[in-house]
Amino acid sequence: MLESSHVYFHQAADVLGLTPKLRDILLAPFRIVKVVIVTEGDDDKLKHHYGYRVQHNRARGPMKGGLRFHPSVNEDESIALANLMTWKTAVVNVPYGGAKGGINCDPSQLSIKELDAITRTFVGQIKEVIGPTIDIPAPDVNTNAQVMGWIMDEYSKYAGFSPGVVTGKPLHLFGSEGREEATGRGVTIVLEEALKEQNKTLADVTVAMQGFGNVGSFAAKLMAAAGAKIVAVGDHLGGTSRAEGLDVEALSTWVREHRSVKGFPGGDAFHSSDVLTWDADVLIPAALGDVLTEENAKDVRAKIIVEAANAPTTPEADAIFRQRGILVVPDILANAGGVTVSYFEWAQNIQQFCWDIDRVRIELTNHMQKAYHSVAAAAKKHKVDLRTAAFVLGTQRVGKAAMSRRHYA
Ligand code: GLU
Repeated sequence: MLESSHVYFHQAADVLGLTPKLRDILLAPFRIVKVVIVTEGDDDKLKHHYGYRVQHNRARGPMKGGLRFHPSVNEDESIALANLMTWKTAVVNVPYGGAKGGINCDPSQLSIKELDAITRTFVGQIKEVIGPTIDIPAPDVNTNAQVMGWIMDEYSKYAGFSPGVVTGKPLHLFGSEGREEATGRGVTIVLEEALKEQNKTLADVTVAMQGFGNVGSFAAKLMAAAGAKIVAVGDHLGGTSRAEGLDVEALSTWVREHRSVKGFPGGDAFHSSDVLTWDADVLIPAALGDVLTEENAKDVRAKIIVEAANAPTTPEADAIFRQRGILVVPDILANAGGVTVSYFEWAQNIQQFCWDIDRVRIELTNHMQKAYHSVAAAAKKHKVDLRTAAFVLGTQRVGKAAMSRRHYA
């Protein structure tokens, strides 16, 4: 994944004619923190996990990005995802740099008490390098508002009451209206914009979705509400399909109870990986990275791919999609709704002022539409695909800020 993020960066740097020196400055992470988190499990035995926080670039503001809890979390992946956050925050023009991190654990095997202890110990180990003006974590894969609440509480013991140290908090703990749905809503808004260019609306399309977590479930609900038919949903355990469109609300209820779409009585079962090559107009990968590869790219049947997940497409697959004329709306644009509403949350925390849901949704729609059209304009101008255009836009904004500050990391 680290290599992929560099390939995409260099494609944009080639378009911009950036010097090797500037490329080095923009690619180098500012700080890489790795800690060993030792906690006591419910069985009184010691548990060891690795925790990471990679701070990639701070030219445009405090560094920002999620924390994921997953067995696959490692240093290279965190560097790649931190790098993507730098361009993402620049593409939607929110005043942040990029960071990412996580803990290599499997939350499904941990009790709430164990997760709480692991999270708090990690915060204790990174507290000197995070903060409302330094680096602001947020939810990502397998982390949620509760985890963000623990982070705020633990950090506040050290720095005094600090709601702005983390976003995606519970609503009753200085979270923002609309943060939970934000990434899925952003994905829906950019798909609508892409369809407008083809004189279509959501009511004209069928959608296949990989992943039904926070991002996928909200995206599916909002798309279905606007008339799209969600014909297939796959997750790590299985898949469910219905040619006339799945009842997304019923599917959500099922998943809440069974932790998977597998066995959903309102659809036909299929093998989960088939979702990527499903016969649908739109494919939305909304789970983990590197799922669209050289092996399956030629079999993808969708005409539009909207990357709700981070880094779901390898550069080899991306080249195949380009050559096949499949429109790819890249992650650093498509899933930027989350960090955009994170920005609104942080701004509300700093001002000690609360926005209502309508304001959040209106501002999010404005930010996402503007970002989509800036990227589309850059694609036209440089005669490149949307991914290269998004990287061009992000790189230009970060590069300008870095140079004006004479900031080399
Ligand atoms: N984890 C989300 C992302 O990958 C949100 C990051 C944030 O809100 O800081 O964009």
